[in-house]
Amino acid sequence: MVLRPRLAALAVIVVALPVLAGDASSSSIPRMRSDLTFLASAECEGRGPGTEGINKAADYIADAFRKAGLKGAMPDGSFFQPFTIKGASKLGKDIGVSLSGADFGTMNLKLNSAFSPMAATASGAADAPIVFAGYGITSDSMKYDDYANLDVAGKVVLIIRKAPRYGEERHMLIDEQARQQIENAVAQVAALESKVKNAHTHKAAALLMVNDASEKDDKILEFRTASGSGDAVPAVQIKRSIGDMLLRTGMGKSLDEVERSIDAELKPMSQPLKGWTAKVDVTIDRKETPVKNVIGVLEGAGPLADQTLVIGAHYDHLGYGGPGSLARGVKAIHFGADDNGSGTTSVIELARRLAANPPANRRRIVFMTFSGEEMGLLGSQHYAEHPIFPLKDTVAMINLDMVGRLAPDAETHKGKLDVGGTGSAKSFNALIDELNAKYDFKLRKSAAGIGPSDHTSFFLKGVPVFFFFTGLHKEYHRPTDVVDLINFDGMNKIVDMVEELARGLWTAEHRPEYVKVSGSFQVGAIPRDGASGRGPSIRFMPGNYDDDAGGALVASVTKDGPADKAGIKDGDLIVEVAGTPVKNMTAYTAEMRKQKAGHPVEFTIVRKGDRIKVTVTPE
Ligand SMILES: [Zn+2]
Repeated sequence: MVLRPRLAALAVIVVALPVLAGDASSSSIPRMRSDLTFLASAECEGRGPGTEGINKAADYIADAFRKAGLKGAMPDGSFFQPFTIKGASKLGKDIGVSLSGADFGTMNLKLNSAFSPMAATASGAADAPIVFAGYGITSDSMKYDDYANLDVAGKVVLIIRKAPRYGEERHMLIDEQARQQIENAVAQVAALESKVKNAHTHKAAALLMVNDASEKDDKILEFRTASGSGDAVPAVQIKRSIGDMLLRTGMGKSLDEVERSIDAELKPMSQPLKGWTAKVDVTIDRKETPVKNVIGVLEGAGPLADQTLVIGAHYDHLGYGGPGSLARGVKAIHFGADDNGSGTTSVIELARRLAANPPANRRRIVFMTFSGEEMGLLGSQHYAEHPIFPLKDTVAMINLDMVGRLAPDAETHKGKLDVGGTGSAKSFNALIDELNAKYDFKLRKSAAGIGPSDHTSFFLKGVPVFFFFTGLHKEYHRPTDVVDLINFDGMNKIVDMVEELARGLWTAEHRPEYVKVSGSFQVGAIPRDGASGRGPSIRFMPGNYDDDAGGALVASVTKDGPADKAGIKDGDLIVEVAGTPVKNMTAYTAEMRKQKAGHPVEFTIVRKGDRIKVTVTPE
């Protein structure tokens, strides 16, 4: 499940979490438990693209598919559909900026203190005259062009960061919507990527950028993970003081003066900087990470054999954290038991059940587990662009993403299940209602075929979709999404229903009729830490889930939370809660469940070998 930050707003949702009593089939639950325990183990390293662990997970899935009786989907019989994703970029070896002035000689700038390359740009070299181009903006709608009547072809362009009057309050005489539109337009032209592209459009050989005056301490931006395509011009940021020197000597005005004048008049002041040339060398190694979808086939038979039903789930997760993690700054395995070990395990189990008992006349079923989902549905997009079986003959796609945390609805006590895509084919809404008469979930249906997971890639290609999801929780995209919290009875019940759904679609005489339904699936809010039925919280990020951790390791204390207030520090090991020894995180959680919010509890912690007692008041 991949959310844009906008959707990841925090809200408090209070739910009780008793284990649901399902109709547990005796053999499938232990099988699923064993699959998921491996997929969400430390050995699989959070299934982050580029890790050894994700390859172990892929091997495990392929092996399970094979044992279930599936064939590898690739022409050569392999279960792996390989592709690459753009990984982080790194600075290469040849990096340098030197400036030469007719009357000043040559100065070599020092990397990281006087200049730094920007990751959103290309590798490249230039040695050419410097032209000042204001903020580097060309905007028709704003009737503003720093490049008007300026020849920068083959030249090195010097620009100021952001945009004229950036950050200025715009609230007079315009309504909120108009204001928002202006803000968006300004953000767009001010974006580094837009400026690099614009310089490229004007055939500049390289780009030098300085902070605008509002950046008081004139920090050089760190070379960051690339957000750009990396195919435009090489670009570096240089210190504002150096830019100022270039303007003073090359056009006779200070940078402050020029910036103020542009902001006041909204008129460009672009011009060549007399006598100055720059030599710029940037090399960026952009790592391509090889990844793979795991795809197995159960062949069809009879007149429907050329049609395909897809059952899929992504198997990648966040590895050791990084941009997708909500545990900011924490480098720890994100086990991804629910997201999406649960869906992956369900697809494996469905393969076993369906392959064990195929009807005589049937469509082909293609079982797919995708990589690169957390980085933006990359695996399913790759399949949609390079389908192994024609998409026009693909009658439906069923996606399971986070189905391991079925919890009861507060009112009805039925398990709450989200089903997306019910409007993506004419028959789907009635079909799911009919099935649910038997399974009796508390359904939250969404007609939309677009949502935060891989079914979207199929829907956009005209394939009807179903999406199953048990909802967000406070462990979402954190290292705490672990097997212990999985509701296997609930998962099994979902697999039962999806099996019955799949059997219907497998053999139905008529294929579902696609509807290009509008809208997108609304995910809801992420429950806040400490807000569900796990006992009160003292607010910290756990560091270790090993059984033999010796206690509950505190990876990072939440600022101003109860632990912080009590003086607990990052790296502390909690070994006793209210006089009861806790040997690991699970024992800690169990002990905390007995405590009450607002009631002080004595903790024993071990810090650098010392045993210390602290009193904490959980919330
Ligand atoms: Zn996710």
